[in-house]
Amino acid sequence: MNERYSRQILFPGIGKSGQEKIRSKHVLILGAGALGSGSAEVLTRAGVGKITIVDRDYVEESNLQRQQLYTEADVAEKWPKAAAAERRLREINSDVEIHSVVGDATPELLEELVAGVDLMLDATDNFETRMIMNDVAQKYKIPWIYGACVGSFGMSFSIIPGKTPCLNCLLRSIPLQGMTCDTGGIIAPAVQMVIAHQTAEALKMLAEDWDAARTAFVSFDVWRNQYTSMKMSKAKFAGCLSCGEHRTYPYLDQENRSKTSVLCGRDTVQIRPSTPREISLEQLAAQLSTLGHTVKGNPYLLSVEMGDQRMVIFQDGRALIHGTKDMTQAKTIYQRILG
Ligand SMILES: [Zn+2]
Repeated sequence: MNERYSRQILFPGIGKSGQEKIRSKHVLILGAGALGSGSAEVLTRAGVGKITIVDRDYVEESNLQRQQLYTEADVAEKWPKAAAAERRLREINSDVEIHSVVGDATPELLEELVAGVDLMLDATDNFETRMIMNDVAQKYKIPWIYGACVGSFGMSFSIIPGKTPCLNCLLRSIPLQGMTCDTGGIIAPAVQMVIAHQTAEALKMLAEDWDAARTAFVSFDVWRNQYTSMKMSKAKFAGCLSCGEHRTYPYLDQENRSKTSVLCGRDTVQIRPSTPREISLEQLAAQLSTLGHTVKGNPYLLSVEMGDQRMVIFQDGRALIHGTKDMTQAKTIYQRILG
């Protein structure tokens, strides 16, 4: 182990004891897109003990420009991102325990996954999941690192329960909503800059060098050459429902959740069944082929061509309807196939 991590151990901020601490930690990464692949690779190479990575999507050609863990073979196989990430991360460092979850980051799933987790990394592309993550972090006192990017712009902030303001507090001072969902494109250096900020903070926390942790909210634009750092110590809101004295963790509440959502910057609607179900993909594929549909699949999902739309069905009954932003139309297609 010493040779593998020798350069990191030589670095005074980490050292031998820091490396041992890093090795004893479990990190949960939410999202295996651009930010998730990058962060997972950095932490896997750094020798974190265990990494759990969660993602609901599968690899597509337009991901390859910036989602560094994936290859053309993953696109051809429509392999789920979490599973493709696990496969690649194991090749990079067999010394790290990698666990992947193909699914939607619902409050139930997150509350189950956070047992024994030391740190969470935000690599999601949507606000709903970040707010769930924020509530889970406060409830179980787990630090997490917010990160987002769009175009050439990126930002990051570390949220430490009991110390810093939470994401819900920040909403009062920073217009974060709407910053993530975009159709304006993204360049890889903006992603890499956010990954660098998130993983640097992650390594500090995992090595338990809390004095070195950044407390400011940073944002930058790598195209326009701008860098801003904002102090957030006064942003903590006493009446915050996520971290205040009379907290209710509003985003963990079933009622506040949407079952249908239009995916970020894409002509795609996601539908999640109200109660989880187990679908036999093999059986469904046979039925749909008999009905004359073109069906392709792998052990994780089925892809069905349906005129202008394409539906991708996962084992847990979740589906992505490509080729529409219309929720009603998407629901109709879903019910036609899955009842
Ligand atoms: Zn708060």
